[in-house]
Parts: sequence; structure tokens; C-alpha cells
Amino acid sequence: MIMSRRRLLGSLAATAATGSAFQALSDLSLAESAPAPRANALPTPIFLSRNENAYGPSEKALVAMREALSGSHRYPGTEHDLLLNKIAALHRVRPEQIVLGCGSSEILRTAAAAFLGPGKKLVQASPTCPLLGEYARPGVEVVNVPLNKMYEHDLSAMLARADASTGLVYICNPNNPTGTLTARKDIEVFIAKLPASTMVLIDEAYHHFVSGTSTNASFLDRPLNDSRVMIVRTFSKIYGLAGMRIGYVVAAPDIARRLSGHGPQFGVGAVSAKAAAAALDDSEYVFTAAKRNASDRQEFMNQVNARMLRALDSHANFVMMKSPHPVDLVFEHLKKNNVLVAPPIPEMNKYIRVSLGTPADMLQFWRVWDLMPGQKMNTNM
Ligand code: PLP
Repeated sequence: MIMSRRRLLGSLAATAATGSAFQALSDLSLAESAPAPRANALPTPIFLSRNENAYGPSEKALVAMREALSGSHRYPGTEHDLLLNKIAALHRVRPEQIVLGCGSSEILRTAAAAFLGPGKKLVQASPTCPLLGEYARPGVEVVNVPLNKMYEHDLSAMLARADASTGLVYICNPNNPTGTLTARKDIEVFIAKLPASTMVLIDEAYHHFVSGTSTNASFLDRPLNDSRVMIVRTFSKIYGLAGMRIGYVVAAPDIARRLSGHGPQFGVGAVSAKAAAAALDDSEYVFTAAKRNASDRQEFMNQVNARMLRALDSHANFVMMKSPHPVDLVFEHLKKNNVLVAPPIPEMNKYIRVSLGTPADMLQFWRVWDLMPGQKMNTNM
């Protein structure tokens, strides 16, 4: 007998109070519970398109979130400030130098609102993370400076385009979508030569994935004594909390005050703030996640090499791979097989950006890749 939807829900409701709601599901035999297959039912796609941490957050962050849920009927209390203080201690700055946002994308939006009024210029690389350029209001000139032939920021070309009207320069390091790193010492020289009124936003969303940071220290770990520099970080990448939407900027106190005027009026959500605070406490998780990412990245490159493909050397949790086939067809082929990669971009129209997933995700990615007509099969998988 097939259990009706109403009976199933009734059974779930009755058992939910004892914490055994899921038992009700497993008590049903497969024959009873399996709905008749729907022609249009699709399996969950494999997301290799958004540069998330496919493994999920630290167990400590999960515990903090579960605990925080029971208080979610209350407005946030001290959670925002506690997180602010923790971030300040981590980076050895004052709490008034930090602004939290619902994801670092919101921080980019506040920076555009604060420093890119009509008549101002934004100078950025091309391609780079497009968010800031998209947030620039009408009347702002967005100057896109192509990456150099190493796919790094072409700092001398960017400098040549910066003038007194340049409100903001955006440096995404490592850069999305290329995963390439621009040398810190070159960025320092570049900043020193910028007009005195030009602000610089360094987006370190992927910083934790950089191997061997000694020569490429973060601008938070080794700050510049320059109040024009703002550094943005997110909890969406290494910390695996993209769905919790927390990001932050570290800036000089007066700059932070200016940014916060455009930020969220009532702070970030309490569950999110607690998750982020717990994630910061779990430095071991961050270490493990970075190591795991480095090994996943190496395995990806092994598979690239096995197929005699080419990819850019990545310092992030994604790889920009050159496609031997037209990228639109590759994107559609993968999508048709439930594997989602980043949509192709005109600036690099022979490349596709693949976020690193779990080993099972990547196995499926390569299986589907090898199904592409004309694709040389790899026998090692
Ligand atoms: N900055 C960079 C470089 C990104 O790649 C992204 C998203 O992928 C963001 C900022 C925004 O991330 P979030 O709003 O999740 O913090």
C-alpha cells in the first residue's frame, strides 16, 4: 500500500515531538515511500559554479548554529559585537576598524556607495569579480584593465588609467575567475604611486587557499600604514558558511565609519554571527580545509594533465581551465548532465571556471567531461 502524503505528514508531525521524525521516513519501506517517478524530476545538481567550500563548515560552527537556533525568535543581542571583537583580536586592530556585512558582496556594495559617486572612476582588472563594477551607480566610469599575459593584475596599466577622479581601485587577490596571484610587493609599489585621494579595496576572499604565503602575506597579516587601503574578507569560502552571509572589511576608523553608514542598519543575523565566531575559533579546521583544498587542486591538475588539457595555476578553490571545445557547448553539456560550472565569460572565451568539489563531485565532473563528443577518454579514473 502506498502511504498517502497526508498520512506521511501526520506521522512525521506525531513523531517530531520525540525527535524521531526521520525515523517515520525510514520506517516506510522503499515500495511504500517511493513516489511514482516524475518525468521532469531532476537529481540535485553538482555545484562547481560558485566557489563554495563543498565540504561544509566546521563541526564547531554547526554546533554553534544549532544552539543559536533556539533563540532565533529574539532580535539579535550582543552577537554582532562579539563577532566584531573576535575579528578585531584576530587581525590586531580596533573593533571600530571593522564593518560586517551580509556577505562580502554587501561590503563591496557599501564601498561603491561610499566612494563611487557620479563623476568618479572605478579602476579594476578584467576579468575580475564583477560585483563592484555592477554596484557602481550610473555616472561612474568603470575602467576595465585587461590582466597581463600571466593573468595577473597589470598594475602599470591600471596605474596609467588612475587619476584624481578615481574614487576606487579594486584588487582581487587571488583573482576570481583566474585564481592567479599578483605579487604583494608589486601591489605595494602600485598603491604608493596612486593619487592621494584614491581608495584601494583589496578583496582577499580566497586568501586562505594561497600556498606559501610568506612572500604574499595578506594585507591583514602584514598591514600597510596607509589609510586608503581597505581589506575585505568573507566567511563564504574557506569557512564554508556561504549560506550564512557574513563578510567584513578592515579599514581605518574614519573609513570604516563612512562605510558603515551604507551597511546593514541592524547588523547581521544572530545565528550567522555565532556561526562565524565559532568558525574563527576553529583554526584547526581552517588549516585542514586549506590543506585539503591544495590536494584537491593538485588532483584536478593531474586529471587536466592526463587529458593533455591546460589550466591556469590556481591559488584558490577553483581552476580556470582551457577548453578544447567551444565553451558554450561544454557548459551546456555539463549542465545537461547536472554538473554546473561558472557560465562562460567573453573576456576569456576559451576557458571554463570549475570550482573544486568533493572527490565524488570531481569524479562525476570528469566522467561527464569524458562523455563529451570528441573527448579523449582517461583510463585512470
Ligand atoms: N569577492 C569575491 C572575489 C568573490 O568571488 C565573491 C563570491 O564568490 C564575493 C566577493 C562575494 O562573496 P560573499 O558575498 O559570499 O561573501
